Amino acid sequence: MAGNLIIISAPSGAGKTTLVREVVKRDRGVRPSVSYTSRAPRDKERNGIDYFFVTRDEFEAMVERGEFIEWAYVHANLYGTARRQVEESLKFGYDVLLAIDVQGAEQIRKIFPDSISVFILPPSYEALIERLGCRGDNDDEDLKLRLRNALDELSDYSRFDYLVVNEDLVRATDELMSIIVAERCRRKKRVWAAEKIINTFRK
Ligand code: 5GP
Repeated sequence: MAGNLIIISAPSGAGKTTLVREVVKRDRGVRPSVSYTSRAPRDKERNGIDYFFVTRDEFEAMVERGEFIEWAYVHANLYGTARRQVEESLKFGYDVLLAIDVQGAEQIRKIFPDSISVFILPPSYEALIERLGCRGDNDDEDLKLRLRNALDELSDYSRFDYLVVNEDLVRATDELMSIIVAERCRRKKRVWAAEKIINTFRK
């Protein structure tokens, strides 16, 4: 049975990356997709784990070859999700988490109408500034750009199936886990299990 494709979007600094990491730690049935980006790695980021870091030319060549299921220009850099990685994980029954921006979310909804989308909100503007400032790895221009883009991104929340406010990490992780688990229990995902059980009664 194929897994679910779960889109997670949020303005920069809302804690999406940490939340995804927490969920992956808790549930072995969930796999994050590792995106490709033309942005330079931050301090502790590792190639192949946080992102696949590529040059702009390499990224554009991948676009030409149709290797992305979605890609977008975000905060002055290119980001994309590799088709093969996602399709393979889904085929093996994993739920795949796509931590992508709102433009990518829109593209995925069109190609995968059954995908599930979750929007993560920061508790307030002040909290977002504090988190972005604390990250300590954004230069001033980058920080300003991310804050300017935040309102646009937040305004997109109405297109998402679920909303999670990330005020408290444990609670937000619980909520995200609940969404993932509930989606696995949908009837259409469980028909095969129900039929298998019913067949044992027919012997
Ligand atoms: P950051 O530079 O902070 O890691 O990411 C900036 C933004 O790009 C975030 O909103 C993040 O979710 C988004 N992003 C990361 N990977 C992808 C991707 O593969 N596709 C799209 N559309 N956005 C992505």
